[in-house]
Amino acid sequence: MVFPVALRQELIDHARVGDPDEVCGILAGHENRVERIFPVHNSAASVSADSGVFRDRTTGEASVGRPSVHYYMDPRDQLRVYNQVDDLALDVVGYYHSHTHTEARPSPTDIRLANDLSPLYVLVSLTHSPGIRAWKIVKNDPADEMGEAIEVPISDGDIRLA
Ligand SMILES: [Zn+2]
Repeated sequence: MVFPVALRQELIDHARVGDPDEVCGILAGHENRVERIFPVHNSAASVSADSGVFRDRTTGEASVGRPSVHYYMDPRDQLRVYNQVDDLALDVVGYYHSHTHTEARPSPTDIRLANDLSPLYVLVSLTHSPGIRAWKIVKNDPADEMGEAIEVPISDGDIRLA
């Protein structure tokens, strides 16, 4: 994934502003190159236990969404961004969210809830270094609960002559 340093800094700044809550958004560009970052409102706080989206990590029981440990892209805000990305003739290259206390690796919940597997999943950690890592989530079916996260290298897009 080509992800220029200035845009990566923008992502870290966004995560810091959102701390102690997780932030999320869409990375737009062409093919595997990130050209624009679009924050999307994290509406995890409005996700009820009845929805079955989130589960308690230890008991496995359905839990309410908590934005300090969960992200849930607000559907209306996400649609607004998709339209903006379309208008700019860009593609969705990736989804991103922050981890405020854990490393920049998809959690089992992140893998379970990943249902659009073409774009990469980018994680920004506020506590672990390196702060930003990109992942391909692989499942047999997007609806599967289990899958594998394979790290994808990030480069700054400098043109290097051989
Ligand atoms: Zn996560």
